[in-house]
Amino acid sequence: MSLKQTDSEIYGLISSELSYQQSTLRLIASENYASKAVMEATGSVLTNKYAEGYPGKRYYAGNRHIDQVEAIAIERAKKLFGVYHANVQPHSGASANFAAFYAFLQPGDKFMGLELAQGGHLTHGSPVNYSGKWFKPVAYMVDRETEALDYNAIMKKAKEEQPKLIICGYTAYPLIIDFKAFRETCDAVGAVLMVDISHFAGLVAGGAYPSPVPYADIITSTTHKTLRGPRGAMMMAPERNAQIMDKAVFPGTQGGPLENVIAGKAVCYHEALQPEFKTYAGQVVKNAKVLADELVASGVRLVAGKTETHLILVDLTPKGITGKEAQVALEEAGIIANRNMIPFDKQKPFVTSGMRFGSAALTTRGMKEGEMKHTASLIVKVLENPNDSELKLKVRKDVEELCAGFPIYKN
Ligand SMILES: *Cc1c(COP(=O)(O)O)cnc(C)c1O
Repeated sequence: MSLKQTDSEIYGLISSELSYQQSTLRLIASENYASKAVMEATGSVLTNKYAEGYPGKRYYAGNRHIDQVEAIAIERAKKLFGVYHANVQPHSGASANFAAFYAFLQPGDKFMGLELAQGGHLTHGSPVNYSGKWFKPVAYMVDRETEALDYNAIMKKAKEEQPKLIICGYTAYPLIIDFKAFRETCDAVGAVLMVDISHFAGLVAGGAYPSPVPYADIITSTTHKTLRGPRGAMMMAPERNAQIMDKAVFPGTQGGPLENVIAGKAVCYHEALQPEFKTYAGQVVKNAKVLADELVASGVRLVAGKTETHLILVDLTPKGITGKEAQVALEEAGIIANRNMIPFDKQKPFVTSGMRFGSAALTTRGMKEGEMKHTASLIVKVLENPNDSELKLKVRKDVEELCAGFPIYKN
């Protein structure tokens, strides 16, 4: 029986979510639209299979097709990123990061990551996360003036602190990271270089962002952000760390892999290997830049002064509105984006002074520079009149009209 017949309640909510995704402007920098092919693979019978282990070395019987699916996913991931070995089993970005810690650290070991409030991830040493509870995080900061990473300061801090591992790769940092500088720092103190490319993996795959592969000891990534695959994650390593990485994922930190999701990842890598994905990645960055320029022209301030990626971080302070107020007002108008701390934020984490906007999802819909300008003008209207219900309704209509021209799934 179909879902509609067996569970009309959930079916109805999924249908409503589809219309909502279709009729709103999604500017959440960590979101995207996976293709129908990716979703078909992810929703397949492969969900019925246990496959603990790796292709050719399973702890369960009956994996003849599963082995091929996972082997293909691994081969495509290796080709896409030009890396020696890939592990496609991590269930999520947080799981991948847990496995990376498991591979290289003992509880109590010291590591360095960017402070959460400045764009680091929870798993990079937040006190409410295992990374901050079971390990000893030392935070590095962006420069107070430029709001960019200060590589000399990071080197200095690493020499003082002697961490065993250093993480780079963030959730809200609009500039390109200098992986070579991090490599030099790690070499100077004998630390492992862990690069978490969760946010910009699609840009790396599409050639719009430098690759960390020549420098990293271990790479973790989600597959559902700019890479546009199913919700999940992956890890990559040079030859010297291939075995320790695989062991850290299974049996170290996970049980049976989600082979249906791994099939979705294989499809995603195939899509990302096509020439059109290069065009996509380039357009994502172009679109973010146009959005940034338009917003700046309206009087907000960009953290770090610019973007070189898919995301921009806006300081709303000059507009006299908090991140929380902006997020709520924008959502009422059909513009979905999240509030975000900015470096050295004076507001509480639940309120914030900033908004984070990303261009990956709108670009997947086929939107280009013109639509970005239109989108920016709608955002500005709401930011300037956050309490004007009539105006928000009018913007909501404009949003729907704009979205109607760019269907998320064409049949
Ligand atoms: C999104 C993200 C994660 C976590 O991914 P989940 O799949 O949500 O667990 C980890 N690190 C960074 C840098 C991220 O942006």
